[in-house]
Amino acid sequence: MHFIDLKAQYGLLKSRIDARIHNVLEHGCYILGSEVFELEEKLAAFVDVKHAITCANGTDALTLSLLALDIKSGDFVITTPFTFFATAEAIAFSGATPIFVDIEEATFNIDPCLLGETLERCNQAGVNVKAVIAVDLFGLPASYDDIEPICKSFGVSLIEDSAQGFAGKLGTRKAGSFGDIATTSFFPAKPLGCYGDGGAVFTNNDELANKIRSLRIHGKGEDKYDNIQIGINSRLDTIQAAVLLEKLSIYPNEIEKRQLVASRYASELKGTPLITPTVPDGFKSVWAQYSLLAPSEEKRNLYMMALKEKGIPSAIYYRKPLHLQSAFEYLDYHEGDFPVTERISETIFSLPMHPYLSVEDQTLVIDTLKLCLDE
Ligand SMILES: *Cc1c(COP(=O)(O)O)cnc(C)c1O
Repeated sequence: MHFIDLKAQYGLLKSRIDARIHNVLEHGCYILGSEVFELEEKLAAFVDVKHAITCANGTDALTLSLLALDIKSGDFVITTPFTFFATAEAIAFSGATPIFVDIEEATFNIDPCLLGETLERCNQAGVNVKAVIAVDLFGLPASYDDIEPICKSFGVSLIEDSAQGFAGKLGTRKAGSFGDIATTSFFPAKPLGCYGDGGAVFTNNDELANKIRSLRIHGKGEDKYDNIQIGINSRLDTIQAAVLLEKLSIYPNEIEKRQLVASRYASELKGTPLITPTVPDGFKSVWAQYSLLAPSEEKRNLYMMALKEKGIPSAIYYRKPLHLQSAFEYLDYHEGDFPVTERISETIFSLPMHPYLSVEDQTLVIDTLKLCLDE
């Protein structure tokens, strides 16, 4: 059994993807070929945002966003300690200092109440918070109905890190459209992935969009030998854009297939000591991961071992919260600072989740878990 089955997806799209790649090899515009711009138009339309700007990966998408917002040394940026390292890494890389805010127990996403309190405290202490990066962890959009007005009232920019949540929903709005700038990743294992590294930035703001288009090509001006600012080199390869054009066409269908797997897991594991993920009313997850809470760390190890014995892969996202990573020792956080994150990191684990997970495989996962729950 696969944790994520990319080969099954390729099998389905093989002739179309092969033809698309072959076409790029023939036309020879390997950097910023027409497929890149065609993809950008389709991505923007898909999440209903004015501008989509592709780049080399999801980490660069965050870096480009922070550069576009002029975030630099001396600035502070708030984010969650329960995310992939890249979210906070991009903040530190920009020269700014990350400030962590704990998550909600039910959604694993940044807690809007704590965010408001932290912004208030920073305000009073004269700490210059420039932006907030909210993360759509495991595919579920953060609580933007609360987060957006809080950021507005404090005059700080909001970045949505939707590397795991692209096109999830809150009401009628899609993930990839929240905040001043949204970012995503096309790393192969993300819900919408390519066959290498890739990423994109989304915004409705013309000025930010123009700036990001320049920043991704060494801060170019009129042409690439006219440089108006210090940028980076971060473009999506034309071949990856070609792959993504085909993958995007089946992505809505794949999102629905993921819902079926998630609801089967949820209904079958209901009433067991395992806590299945909460999707609040009005939200839709794209299920980058299906993450459960075990009653204890010891039990988690037992469940994962039992799954492994049956050939079922499982994983832990994330075992070590960011405030306890040695790379962030200089921020002087300590164990106990973010109790919800710390507690969850001790008991969380993720089950196989992808659109092509067969009913038989789902049954094997569920039965294996139930068997060891009875013991
Ligand atoms: C994967 C991921 C990133 C980084 O994306 P890359 O394409 O691997 O650079 C950033 N944030 C989150 C939440 C991610 O899951």
